[in-house]
Amino acid sequence: MRSRRHSTKYVSMDTSKCKACWACIDECKNGVFRKVNLPFHKHVAIANAENCNGCRRCIATCPNGVFEPIVRDRADTKL
Ligand code: SF4
Ligand code: SF4
Repeated sequence: MRSRRHSTKYVSMDTSKCKACWACIDECKNGVFRKVNLPFHKHVAIANAENCNGCRRCIATCPNGVFEPIVRDRADTKL
């Protein structure tokens, strides 16, 4: 089943900022993204969230700030 989430375990995305340059699709080596490429509706979407390994290449690549790292709450990491 295809995931329609706007985040993986490691990155979230705001598709409204996407300019459909497709740079992140080339950059993500794990096939996480797919193109939504309709005449008036172009942006990247997450197709395979479970493939994301948190490499953050998409965050570094996107010129439009679409991606944000997901940082775990400190309460989760105490011990
Ligand atoms: S963090 Fe890496 S693996 Fe995950 S979506 Fe971005 S480029 Fe792909
Ligand atoms: S790099 Fe950014 S602007 Fe370009 S397609 Fe990916 S999310 Fe959209």
